[in-house]
Amino acid sequence: TLSERLTATLRDLRGKGRLSDADIDATAREIRIALLEADVALPVVRTFIAKVKERAKGAEVSGALNPAQQVVKIVNEELIGVLGGETRRLALAKEPPSVIMLAGLQGSGKTTLAGKLAFWLRNQGHTPLLVAADLQRPNAVNQLQIVGERAGVTTFAPEPGNGVGDPVDVARRGVQHARDKMYDIVIVDTAGRLGVDEELMRQAADIRDATRPDETLFVVDAMIGQDAVATAEAFRDGVGFTGVVLTKLDGDARGGAALSVREVTGQPILFASNGEKLADFDVFHPDRMASRILGMGDLLTLIEQAEQVFDAEQSAATAQKIGTGELTLEDFLEQMLAIRKMGPIGNILGMLPGANAGQMKDALAQVDDKSLDRLQAIIRGMTPAERSDPKIINGSRRLRIANGSGVTVTEVNDLVNRFFEARKMMKQMAGQFGFGGGTRRQS
Ligand code: GDP
Ligand code: MG
Repeated sequence: TLSERLTATLRDLRGKGRLSDADIDATAREIRIALLEADVALPVVRTFIAKVKERAKGAEVSGALNPAQQVVKIVNEELIGVLGGETRRLALAKEPPSVIMLAGLQGSGKTTLAGKLAFWLRNQGHTPLLVAADLQRPNAVNQLQIVGERAGVTTFAPEPGNGVGDPVDVARRGVQHARDKMYDIVIVDTAGRLGVDEELMRQAADIRDATRPDETLFVVDAMIGQDAVATAEAFRDGVGFTGVVLTKLDGDARGGAALSVREVTGQPILFASNGEKLADFDVFHPDRMASRILGMGDLLTLIEQAEQVFDAEQSAATAQKIGTGELTLEDFLEQMLAIRKMGPIGNILGMLPGANAGQMKDALAQVDDKSLDRLQAIIRGMTPAERSDPKIINGSRRLRIANGSGVTVTEVNDLVNRFFEARKMMKQMAGQFGFGGGTRRQS
């Protein structure tokens, strides 16, 4: 999966100041694949990736996240932004009835949506009326009536036996009927074709002109994938719409159509449909959709948790480890690197009285870039077990580490001994100073 690939490529790149171009490029490549796999249209992917790279360039490396995670975080935020940030509510007329017209290809889910929307609105205390302005297919009116019955709302339909009626006329009379009978919202179901077609567009535009909708919702099947852009553009130019509804999200489509439609038309996505039942319907949640498109909800959750936990734990954990003498070589290295920025140990030492503290401060002050690099090389040459439990580093291990990291055995000995001394000393000082100790913790 994408998450695994990302974590594997960029695991060890934490804390480098700013995100490097290489980190950004490597992550952007993976994100690009993820977006294409989610069926986002290619031009939309390009624009989006460019935007993300731009933003990532200036970003500082966070202590909580590695660069890959950080780029993913930026991608996620950007995606949520493009998908609409906060959800927009349905725009209703000041003077009822409000008119909501549904437009979209045949099979996109308009009629089903009409029922769901009516049901949802009715549960909020509205009195919706369905209007059957799809007279194209013989069964369309009947289908809407059945859906309406299930939703517990009335359907306005052409009188049977008059031959094929005029959908524009039915729509107009439907709105008038709502006005007369005090329905406060009219939902106009319209016909669709399998492909975009002139006559269909003209009919939809005529219904629009006859009913003056407060909202025209473009209903689009999430499975449509790459075709979403062309279809959305055709409906935008042919009818115009003020909002989008994404249907069939219960399928396995990753929902790239959402990003494509949103990016190309600039219109907000208002609702999401995810099943054939009336209740399979919700207002659109940009954050959920972003995570679905990226296909790495797990990673996003991890990133969030890492960030939350990081601040609170960082200082506490180190202090506690020092106090209980559990400090590992990994911690040691991290602290060494932090010294020059006057990180936790530097601060702690500065606050401690006594000769020992002074000596140690001097010793640490002598740590320069070169010896830090060597320290880092030696510690990186150890196995995780050795790093967390340096007591096991015996003679043969020392030789292996020395060979592996290009230093002498004496230097490895030096480091290990210094580490044990430092750990002992810090533990004593911590005891005197009254922090650390207490409950043992895993980290
Ligand atoms: P219309 O031609 O645009 O009116 O589309 P319909 O409402 O008739 O829906 C076409 C088909 O898709 C029907 O079989 C619906 O039951 C089905 N459908 C509509 N919305 C959804 C959805 O959100 N999930 C699933 N699984 N099926 C849906
Ligand atoms: Mg229909």
